[in-house]
Amino acid sequence: MVGNNRKGKNDVTIEEMAAFCKKKGFVFPTAEIYSGLAGFFDFGPPGMILKKNIKEAFWEHMVRKRSNILGIDGSLISPFKVWKASGHVDNFVDHLIVCEKCKLQMKAEEFIEDALNIDADGLTDDEIEKIVKENDLRCPKCNSELHIEKPLNLMFSTSVGSGKDAVKAYLRPETAQSIFINFKNIVESQRVKLPFGIAQQGKAFRNEISPRNFLFRTREFEQIEIEFFVHPEKVDDVAGFNEIEDQEINLLTREEQAKENPKEIKVPVKEIASRGNKWQAYFVYLSYVWFLNHGISRDHLRVREHLKEELAHYAKSCFDIEYKFPFGWKEIMGNADRGQYDLKQHAKESKEKLEIYDEESKTKVIPYVASEPSFGVERAFLAFLFEAFEYDEERENNVLHFNPKLAPYKFGVFPLIKDEKLIKIAKEIFNNLNERYNTEYDESGTIGRRYARQDELGTPFCITVDFDSLKDESVTIRDRDTKNQIRVKISEINEIANDLIEGKRRIS
Ligand SMILES: [Zn+2]
Repeated sequence: MVGNNRKGKNDVTIEEMAAFCKKKGFVFPTAEIYSGLAGFFDFGPPGMILKKNIKEAFWEHMVRKRSNILGIDGSLISPFKVWKASGHVDNFVDHLIVCEKCKLQMKAEEFIEDALNIDADGLTDDEIEKIVKENDLRCPKCNSELHIEKPLNLMFSTSVGSGKDAVKAYLRPETAQSIFINFKNIVESQRVKLPFGIAQQGKAFRNEISPRNFLFRTREFEQIEIEFFVHPEKVDDVAGFNEIEDQEINLLTREEQAKENPKEIKVPVKEIASRGNKWQAYFVYLSYVWFLNHGISRDHLRVREHLKEELAHYAKSCFDIEYKFPFGWKEIMGNADRGQYDLKQHAKESKEKLEIYDEESKTKVIPYVASEPSFGVERAFLAFLFEAFEYDEERENNVLHFNPKLAPYKFGVFPLIKDEKLIKIAKEIFNNLNERYNTEYDESGTIGRRYARQDELGTPFCITVDFDSLKDESVTIRDRDTKNQIRVKISEINEIANDLIEGKRRIS
């Protein structure tokens, strides 16, 4: 597998990764010429393609190939009532702690986590107040007393329309709710029967108190979420579950998290089912395998069971898939059992019946969301970058060892030197490949410099046209990871190209 057993990648800090991303054009801070806007980023040419490739590969695996999961594309702004019903208006809050003297502001949850090394997610105002008092926590800057502010809602609010007709609305803080509010329309317009899923890929917005760690916590981000609806009495009916139940996953259990030095343990997939439900275990496994198959090493990937006290207001059980970043193990994907919470809430507030007719039992039921795979696109993007990154001492340049399927550019095409005859052939090969794959053409600088440029963008294969090509109608293809080269006929490039990207053929 690409990306395993390399040294040094965890030496790269998040700041160095942000600098590298800017230098190579992957990611820029938003509005940088106006000194930026914290928590917002723009994706440059290679970054935009990498992000698109990640989304497409995940969607393909989780949604497109499954006949019982349908996609939608909902609006970014929705009315107040949606978010009141979902619980976000009342519960989707963070707490701010302010120093009485120097006015230093901190996100309470983070401050408590850093100060006491405990998990502070989901604490109420009173609990935070109590922890700060009991532990006599003080301002890290001036040691004065701290004041806990009223909870701050994380949603960006806006108003739609003007004058007296204006109505309060929010930018969505998650894609999930568009799925629930479209449930009735989907059931009435599509031929669906339980169990089935509705998926959505798109932007979400959260007014985080302290965006940090580059792309890890931003105020605008993208998600792919699936709500998987099942009959409430058949939460564990998964056809074919026995085929995957003994596959191994690294799991950090609740019990382990209570210990001094918690460690993940290898467990079969059915262990997740026994702690959550079978559909949840099934989708956790599908996602876990997807990360492994796209280049994340097993040592850097684990599943973490949520503690009871950190469960979101709607969740019965939740598992995160975590990646080992240089700044610690962090969530790149979640999977919650949301039960009937959302459909019941929206049915109550909208006074619409959000039910489906179940042929087997001949009754109408409110479906149960047994599993909600929730994929953070930017977080996955960051994990793939860290996993791929290596400073190669021998080459004296950085190499991004992306899985060829995710790599922004699949091929680089070069004439050995600027010679008209070589350029002509190289351009023909470039035009031909570029019809199907993002391909880079480069004729400037030494051949070594051009390889280095492609290494830094993660281009897996480089094709060089040399003077022998004029005689033998062949070119050299060089592998990014091994630097091995093979000689192939120009007429065969098309045939070989796809096999190389799919990993069906290797250059050795
Ligand atoms: Zn202070």
